Formats: sequence, C-alpha cells, structure tokens
Amino acid sequence: NSIPKIVILGAGYAGILAAQNLQKKLKNNEADVTLVNRHDYHYFTTELHMPAAGTQPDEKTYEKISNLVDEFKIDLVKSNVTAIKLDERQVVLEDGVLSYDHLIIALGGDPETFGIPGMKEHAFSIRSINSVRAIRDHIETQFKEFKKDGDETRLNFVVGGAGFTGIEFVGELANRLPELAKQHGVDPSKVGLYNVEAAPSALPGFDPELVTYAMDTLTKKGVTFRIGVPVKGCDENGVTVGEGERIEAKTVVWTGGIRGNHLIEDAGLEAMRGRVKVDEYLRAPGHDNVYVIGDGSLMIGPEGRPYPPTAQIAMQQGERLAKNLIATIRGQQTEKFVFSNKGTVASLGKGEAVAVVAGKKIKGWPAAQLKKVVDARYLFVIGGMGLVLKKGRFL
Ligand code: FAD
Ligand code: NAD
Repeated sequence: NSIPKIVILGAGYAGILAAQNLQKKLKNNEADVTLVNRHDYHYFTTELHMPAAGTQPDEKTYEKISNLVDEFKIDLVKSNVTAIKLDERQVVLEDGVLSYDHLIIALGGDPETFGIPGMKEHAFSIRSINSVRAIRDHIETQFKEFKKDGDETRLNFVVGGAGFTGIEFVGELANRLPELAKQHGVDPSKVGLYNVEAAPSALPGFDPELVTYAMDTLTKKGVTFRIGVPVKGCDENGVTVGEGERIEAKTVVWTGGIRGNHLIEDAGLEAMRGRVKVDEYLRAPGHDNVYVIGDGSLMIGPEGRPYPPTAQIAMQQGERLAKNLIATIRGQQTEKFVFSNKGTVASLGKGEAVAVVAGKKIKGWPAAQLKKVVDARYLFVIGGMGLVLKKGRFL
C-alpha cells in the first residue's frame, strides 16, 4: 500500500507529543503511525527525583500510554528497540522488525559517566521508573541493614554532580533521610548527604544569586557540598574525589550528565556525546526521512551554545515535527523549528525552589508553587484535567 509509514521510537516527552499531534491532525489513511516504547507506560522524567527519594509514590509518576494516545489512530508496540538500520529503512525490535518511510528517534538519553572507573557498575542513575524504584529500595535497605551490622558507611549518601538533577534529588533526600532515620530508630546526626560537583559552582551557568540561595537552603537542610571537586572513581564502598580523598558510602547516585541513547551511535549516525546535530527541520544529516528529537538531538542556540536537553525543548520539537510531517505528506510547506524558552524552575525539596521565568528570579515557596503548576500543566497537556486529577495534582 502507498500510505506512508511513520515510526516513532520512544514515548517520552518528545515521542508522546509527536504522537499526540499526529493523531490530532492526520486524516484517515493519510499515514500509518506506530509508537514503540519499552514499557506500556509513559513516565514523567522531570519528576523522577521524587520517587527516587521516596517522597512521591511511583504511581503518581507514570501513566499507561494507551490512556494518552488513541489506539484507533496509532499502533502501540511495547518492545525494546535493539537496532536502527538506516540503509534498509528498518528498526529491529527484540521481537520483530518494523519498516518505515519516516523515522522519529525519540529514545531519550543514557547516563554519561565520562569513563570514570566503576561508575557504570556501582552507581545508580535516575532515568526510569525501574531505576528510581531500585534507588528508593536500596536507600531504605541501608537503614535496615545498619540496624543489624552497625556499618556507619550505610548512612552516607553520595550524589555525584550538582546540575539540576543532582540538586533536585538532594533536595528530596534532605527531606526523606531524617524521616527514614526516625522510622528506623537511627540517630539522624549519623546520616551524611554529600553532593559533589566538579565545576567551580553548583548549577553551572545558572543565575549566581539563585545558586547561592539553592546551596544555602540545601546546606541548612543538611547537605554537605563539595564544589570544584571531581568524582574520579566509584566502587562498592564509595567514591574517590579530588586528589584521592575518599567518601565511604554504600549508596552513590550519579547525576553527572547525560548523552544521547547509544542506539543513535550504533546506527552510524554522526553524533557528539551520542547526540545528533539536527537541522532546523529536526532531520539527521544526510537522512531526509530520519528525525531526532528530545535528548538525542543537538541544536545550537542563538548564543552559539547547544540548548540544554530538557523536557521543554523535547515537547516543542515533538509538536513541530508532527506538524511538519503532516505538511510533508500533504505536499505543503514545512516550518523551521524555533525554540521558545519558557524559563527554568528547579525544586529544592518540600516548599522550596528556584526559578527564572521571563527574566524574573523567583525563590522559596512561590517558586515551589510554580514548580507544582509546571508539573500539573504537563499532565494537562498530555492527558487533560482527568489526568491532573487522577495523579492528585491541583492547579
Ligand atoms: P525521555 O523522556 O527519557 O523518553 C525516552 C523514552 O524512550 C522512554 O519512554 C524510554 O523508556 C524509551 N526508550 C529508551 N530506550 C528504548 C529502547 N531501546 N526501546 C524502546 N524504548 C526505549 N526538563 C525540563 O524541561 N524541566 C524540568 O523540570 C526537568 N526536570 C528533570 C528532573 C529530572 C530528575 C531529570 C532526570 C530530568 C529532568 N529534565 C527536565 C530533563 C527532561 O526530563 C528530559 O530532557 C526529557 O525527559 C527528554 O525527553 P525525551 O523524550 O528525549 O526522553
Ligand atoms: P547536567 O549535565 O546538567 O549536570 C551534570 C553536572 O555534573 C554538571 O554540573 C557537571 O559539572 C557535573 N559533573 C560532571 N562530571 C563530574 C565529576 N566527575 N564529578 C563531579 N561532578 C561532575 O546533567 P543533569 O543535571 O542530569 O541535567 C540533564 C539535563 O536535564 C539538563 O539539560 C538540565 O537542564 C535538565 N534538567 C532540568 C531540570 C529543571 O529544569 N528543573 C531538572 C533536571 C534536569
């Protein structure tokens, strides 16, 4: 049949927005759309620091994909993508093969460990529902085990990297660890929470006044910062930082950055840290029918620096690409992708956050409320008021 086949790989922020915008505007028989994802649910990556620390239930952090897209219009395939064969216009799944005319790669990122010895093997990372369940369970286990063996290194928790993910996670942990200590009858003064950052500042590149506010707030909540000190190694008993100093800990969570999904490089696409420098139409170089959106894509902003990989840009790319694909199929004019930056809001745990919105700095409780609104708004965009209420968020 001559109906074009669109295959979307990954149902994260970029993939869901692409799928929803395609389904909204495509007429019957204009295209066959298939959405492939490793799980049958979509998780809210931007909230994963909470279930990781145990401050928000997992169930509030994901939703079944079949509740977000119309299965009469989009074929959902729950499978692992194992390879992309550009020459054959095929995608290999763990249990089959799909052919495509247009391919949307929206597979997100992989943790970037910069080859630090032992990091991949011994540190946790915040990247999926399963990975954050493992972190939360491991942390709780340390308190239980400490009661049995008295090993105080079980009560040390190290977070490697003080970018936004690291900062948001230590903010939650700073709330959660005292609760766990109380629950398990452990002296809270024995608990150590370390955030180690290689750059000269936490949140490198962010507004300095807000960085100071964030660090002061978190320090008061019990976080020990080590700034300007790189993590150099990780093993089952902790990390080596700076000039060989040790922080002994049974829990290390790596938030040192992300790179594009490895399938991108495996496919032979030209990439920088696993990310494809796409053109203004979100196409991979040399492949007019292959698009990369979300964390796997790289676009340079007007200041000559790459846009940071965020949910915000991923969503906008998904929407623009869907519109362009429909235009392409209809033989109409496509439009260049233009990023519209709505600002940044980062949580620092319960009731605390920092934000820059429309050039205005916001901190403390108002920023924390704004964060809730941003999270709820996302649920509204993908699932309407029904989803906002189902997940217990109130605007
Ligand atoms: P993802 O959302 O990661 O989706 C990728 C999808 O692909 C997933 O569903 C995954 O299961 C699937 N997948 C991966 N590999 C395979 C495979 N082999 N086969 C099948 N399926 C596969 N950004 C913001 O803008 N604002 C924020 O406040 C914010 N907060 C964040 C907080 C945390 C704790 C973290 C970790 C990130 C945060 N980010 C935030 C960044 C944001 O989450 C990412 O930029 C965003 O998730 C990227 O979307 P994506 O669609 O590219 O990838
Ligand atoms: P990141 O790359 O932004 O930050 C990683 C941090 O780890 C950097 O500060 C880096 O200097 C540090 N680091 C790297 N190697 C190190 C080492 N050896 N030792 C110590 N520190 C080291 O990664 P991220 O925080 O995971 O964020 C990924 C993307 O998601 C970013 O684009 C970010 O803007 C976005 N994000 C946004 C929000 C938000 O808006 N609230 C929250 C989380 C993530």
